[in-house]
Amino acid sequence: MYGAHFACIAGCDVRLSLLDVVYRCPRCHGLLEVVHDTEALRNRAPAAWMKLFDERWLRTGWPYGSGVWGKKEWVAPHVDDANVVSLLEGGTNLFWAERYGATLGLEDLWIKQCGTSHTGSFKDLGMTVLVSSVKQMIAAGRPIRAVACASTGDTSAALAAYGAAAGIPVVVLLPEAKVSAAQLVQPLANGAIVGSLATDFDGCMRVVQRLTEDPTIYLANSMNSLRVEGQKTIAIELVQQFDWAVPDWVLVPGGNLGNVSAIAKGFLQARELGLIGRLPRLVCCQAERANPLYRAFLRAQAQGRPMAREDFEPVVAGTTLASAIQIGDPVSRDKAIAALAAFDGLVEQASEVELAEAVARADRTGMFNCPHTGVALACLEKLVAAGTIARHDRVVVISTAHGLKFTEFKTRYHEGGLGFVGAHANVPVRMGAEPEAVVSQLHALLDAREKTGAR
Ligand SMILES: *Cc1c(COP(=O)(O)O)cnc(C)c1O
Ligand SMILES: [Zn+2]
Repeated sequence: MYGAHFACIAGCDVRLSLLDVVYRCPRCHGLLEVVHDTEALRNRAPAAWMKLFDERWLRTGWPYGSGVWGKKEWVAPHVDDANVVSLLEGGTNLFWAERYGATLGLEDLWIKQCGTSHTGSFKDLGMTVLVSSVKQMIAAGRPIRAVACASTGDTSAALAAYGAAAGIPVVVLLPEAKVSAAQLVQPLANGAIVGSLATDFDGCMRVVQRLTEDPTIYLANSMNSLRVEGQKTIAIELVQQFDWAVPDWVLVPGGNLGNVSAIAKGFLQARELGLIGRLPRLVCCQAERANPLYRAFLRAQAQGRPMAREDFEPVVAGTTLASAIQIGDPVSRDKAIAALAAFDGLVEQASEVELAEAVARADRTGMFNCPHTGVALACLEKLVAAGTIARHDRVVVISTAHGLKFTEFKTRYHEGGLGFVGAHANVPVRMGAEPEAVVSQLHALLDAREKTGAR
């Protein structure tokens, strides 16, 4: 039988049940992490795990057709199948961005489309594990009345959906006017109690921590390390999609820094269990207006040494189009700093114009990106221009949400409402209904396109 427990990331001698209502180390108050019984997992040879994962991949044998639960033994062995709350998350497209890559001079660029998911972001991957664990806790007699989170919009959408699927009450706290219309309506539709607070994300976080001092209200923020277990399947899944070949680079937008830590954990576990032989280099991509990790990275670089925990100082995040990463005091910074050290990692940043133009350029090659993915694409461009990433390198960009959640951002870009004229702005052309007139107008437009060579 497989097992897992919570341990302290700072190394305190604590070992806690995954069914305990606990988020931080009781000794040092640092973050916890889930530690798996690796010896038990070694009972299967690497080739046998690969075969098992491939057999389950996107099939209907519930719950193993889910990208997360297909790796249940590595993720959440403490949850009984009967308590799994799954909406078929994961198994997302790994898209060869041939045309976009060519515009950057890259031959082997791939986009992992994590936003093509039930609620439209990668947050589903973590939330299925967290809500399933809560269902398991309730079945074991723990008195839990509700699950709560603070959110920049995607965590709350995922929590509300999985909570509703499980029949568990949900409370979400959102910064007023800082989430998109789609992100606000998602938890409303799923019946969550939605608090719209007159503060930013960091302020919502302080309130939800106070709320969940009451142990009957379970905290679903990414300080809760159960979510990391689901999100780490991004890494395992993408190497599986490459038939267990490891890419050279993985770029991921970072806000609270849970996801970059999770992806690192997935690669490390796959290496520990022999499914891969090496690690990619990781790049954490931040918005310039919410860039505390980038600043820490620069501080360390200026002194010619790797980034350490002491380099980090929280900032007050400025308003950014990449609203889901508008975080100045990220909770998972220690995990992220350790992860980047293990992966010879880098931190890069992108301005508002850079991220918006990267989104627009990529969309012109058939994608439909969110602004956070735009941050990663803009950082990729800088690293290619600097010669850090080379033409033949295999690069994966983690696309974190579906562009349809951010239509206001896209509309403003194309209508010129972002304070600059977008290089790829495209607006509808008003026409009458008279066929001859419309046809000649369309021919003129096509001719004009052909002249500019635009595609
Ligand atoms: C949550 C989120 C991020 C940032 O992930 P962290 O784990 O907070 O670093 C990036 N993009 C989108 C779309 C998100 O919802
Ligand atoms: Zn500790």
